[in-house]
Amino acid sequence: MNHSTPEQPADIVARLRATYRTGRTKPVEWRTGQLGRLRAMLTENGDALAAALHADLGKSATEAYRTEIDFTVREIDHTLDHLAEWLRPEPAPVPAHLGADATAWTQVEPLGVVLVIAPWNYPAQLLLAPMVGALASGNAVVAKPSELAPATSAALARLIPAYLDTDAVAVVEGGVPQTTALLAERFDHVFYTGNGTVGRVVMRAAAEHLTPVTLELGGKSPAFVDRGTDLDVVADRLARGKFLNAGQTCVAPDYVLTDPDTAAALEPALERAVEALYGTDPAASPEYGRIINERHFDRLSGLLDSGRTVVGGTGDRASKYIAPTVLADVDPESPVMREEIFGPVLPIVTVPGLDAAIDFINDRDKPLALYVFTESDGTRERIAAETSSGGLGYGLPLAHLTVSDLPFGGVGESGTGSYHGRWSIETFSHRKAVLSKPLH
Ligand code: NAD
Repeated sequence: MNHSTPEQPADIVARLRATYRTGRTKPVEWRTGQLGRLRAMLTENGDALAAALHADLGKSATEAYRTEIDFTVREIDHTLDHLAEWLRPEPAPVPAHLGADATAWTQVEPLGVVLVIAPWNYPAQLLLAPMVGALASGNAVVAKPSELAPATSAALARLIPAYLDTDAVAVVEGGVPQTTALLAERFDHVFYTGNGTVGRVVMRAAAEHLTPVTLELGGKSPAFVDRGTDLDVVADRLARGKFLNAGQTCVAPDYVLTDPDTAAALEPALERAVEALYGTDPAASPEYGRIINERHFDRLSGLLDSGRTVVGGTGDRASKYIAPTVLADVDPESPVMREEIFGPVLPIVTVPGLDAAIDFINDRDKPLALYVFTESDGTRERIAAETSSGGLGYGLPLAHLTVSDLPFGGVGESGTGSYHGRWSIETFSHRKAVLSKPLH
């Protein structure tokens, strides 16, 4: 279909629903066909997408491929490899009172028309990876990229209709008015990635239609560093996880929690790690990104004096550059500890030891991710048993989300629901309970 005038949200949803009702999106061949087209879109237009990501976030091509384009291709390949198995009906044991000839199973069916709303920080991955699950599950999809990453939004709005089935997949660009208009429509699932304030708006709007939601939110993800760890390894991994995409990663280590002696030794190790990654002048490093816009630049600039500067602490508004920054002696009540940082500022907060660290974590919202650097099995076990978080990473930040068969999502304030791999099929499908008893 070719539309010369912009379609209204109500018309788009009605059109996609009409397609869905024909049954066109249900056969596994349509689903795998769409995934193949999405894969081709990414491999044939990787450089155009990388250029858009560079324009929006100063992302290097290496980072754009690794964290957005190739990431999504891997998610597609994993899904194509396993879809048949994930969709297979699962038999359930039948109780004796129904007789030996009765059988029962669950059948996986699509939900219908789903809405995917993406944020600006990984503006391609966070729109496309949920779409992989939605399409693989046999749904029609309305995709809403973030207006705060305008080059990527425009590229996706151009490419998606050129590759995917336009009767079943639509892209709606825009900001609050467009998203509000979309959310007034009845969807069969709303999948939102972004902040908790808007998450509440999404959940309220969905409640009007009793539409289930997945909320992929954020918050402060702590990194606990135990005594007696190799701090050069820890600092290298912390710096890589924190300063990727200039800290604008939902699962970035938000702050370090450690004892005072370890903190003192970690400070110079972090300084060395930052220099090893980005040189003495990170502003000149092609691998180091920029802040999305002036509003976030100003917000982050206001956090730079929340502690003693170990590394960085400087910025340039014209180029939206904020140096990779480490702050020590940070008061838990200081501004940098009151909100999700979502930028390249790493505060170190000291606590006497493990008990206090566990209390510190449990006194706050349940994080999206919790990272633990320790050589002690006892410490690992205690943290796993005594804290709650969306994900838990021992020794390596961020990486759990690259394991396709792990559910990626938050808990409490960091979100509800999950996706990736087969967990996306659970999110974007209904498991229908079926019982069969022969008539004679
Ligand atoms: P954003 O401002 O791009 O907003 C996300 C989406 O919500 C956009 O598509 C936007 O158009 C829409 N939106 C904004 N205001 C709205 C409103 N009033 N009504 C309806 N829709 C509205 O992105 P953001 O929220 O700044 O993203 C950053 C946050 O997202 C951080 O908290 C981060 O931790 C979180 N995040 C979470 C994940 C995850 O997977 N859990 C991933 C990335 C980011």
